[in-house]
Amino acid sequence: APPRVVVVGGGFAGATCARAVKRADPTVAVTLVERSPRYTACPMSNAVIAGLRDMGAQEFGYDGVAAEGVELLRGAAVAVDPQARRVRLEDGTALPYDRLVLAPGIDLRFDALPGYDEAAAERMPHAWKAGPQSLLLRRQLEAMEDGGVVVMAVPANPYRCPPGPYERASLIAHYLKTHKPRSKLVILDAKDAFSKQRLFEAAWQELYPGLIEWVSLSFGGRVTEVDAASKTLVTEFGQHRADVATVIPPQRAGAIAAAAGVADRSGWCPIDPVTFESTLQPGIHVLGDAAIAGAMPKSAFAANGQAKVCAAAVVTLLRGETPPAPKLVNTCYSLVAPGYGISVAGVYHPKDGLLREVEGAGGTSPPNAPPETRALEARYAEAWFHTITSDVFG
Ligand code: FAD
Repeated sequence: APPRVVVVGGGFAGATCARAVKRADPTVAVTLVERSPRYTACPMSNAVIAGLRDMGAQEFGYDGVAAEGVELLRGAAVAVDPQARRVRLEDGTALPYDRLVLAPGIDLRFDALPGYDEAAAERMPHAWKAGPQSLLLRRQLEAMEDGGVVVMAVPANPYRCPPGPYERASLIAHYLKTHKPRSKLVILDAKDAFSKQRLFEAAWQELYPGLIEWVSLSFGGRVTEVDAASKTLVTEFGQHRADVATVIPPQRAGAIAAAAGVADRSGWCPIDPVTFESTLQPGIHVLGDAAIAGAMPKSAFAANGQAKVCAAAVVTLLRGETPPAPKLVNTCYSLVAPGYGISVAGVYHPKDGLLREVEGAGGTSPPNAPPETRALEARYAEAWFHTITSDVFG
């Protein structure tokens, strides 16, 4: 019988990996298990929240993946038996595998921030999984009166998309400046520093002077409790009443990771940096946001690259050979305003058991760049989104 690879999760990581295994060796039987019929992409979803983009531009189907010979199974994986090498789906189906790839993304931790549960998220949207939550936040901003206060809660590291909260702050500020100029935005942050901070702060000074207040950890930014009914966010230093609040709670790997025994006490999944095989369960690989990928951020760009490296490793391992050490790349674009983009890039390689940044490679957009540079990067952001979604779903 041909070797069987099962991939759980059809996001940037899983859909890429399923296709790449099939391309690398068409004799391998590849099954992709995904719970939803369509995928809603998070990158650019902050622009949807700010009313700059349609939700339709974020949605993708799986026809392209199926056309490549990947068997698609719609359903949720709920359990894994690593000894018998079988995945069980919600409907009872058992799928045998020779190698299993888990790419379930994140779960929001509704147990981590007192007062913030699924019901609270309907009043104070996280919008950290794009879809109805993004549209809810957009409607709330639209309904807010001029002069209102928007409050954001941002978690400590690690979490999905390190610069994402600050892109969101920027684009909400753009919306407020354009439509509700007497309003304010307060960012309550559980950190003292963040990705592309110098670039974001310089842009906020330039584009949104006085509009955004960033409260860092040391100045009492960490949110310890929320009250959804009154839209109040409590910090160690006081209380903030919001007219609109977006609360990004702490996160962990999607539930199937813990069920399979590949998540550690942090809630994330330690992996071998060459093969992405779990260090806790042989035969199971973990990709994308769910994995502890050392210095690599939890991004769609990273997930896509990791998936290609893992697919090549899986095919090599199925042949009984040893995969070579990879080099990985990441670039994260952020929009600060329409026509104003900034980016951070890095190169990564396995070193002492972890993915570490290659010194001297990568960097951020230059500070003090002319507007043409920022405009070009905004175009690159759009082009990147088109390229990666065509690669994964096209
Ligand atoms: P996901 O994309 O979440 O995919 C996981 C899939 O697995 C989902 O389709 C889910 O339905 C499925 N699934 C989970 N569990 C099961 C199960 N048990 N059974 C079946 N199916 C299951 N990244 C960038 O590179 N650039 C950006 O500009 C960028 N902007 C962002 C902006 C925002 C606001 C946010 C929130 C994120 C952004 N990201 C960006 C990050 C990016 O979205 C994630 O890093 C990326 O989606 C991770 O891919 P993944 O495949 O690991 O997880």
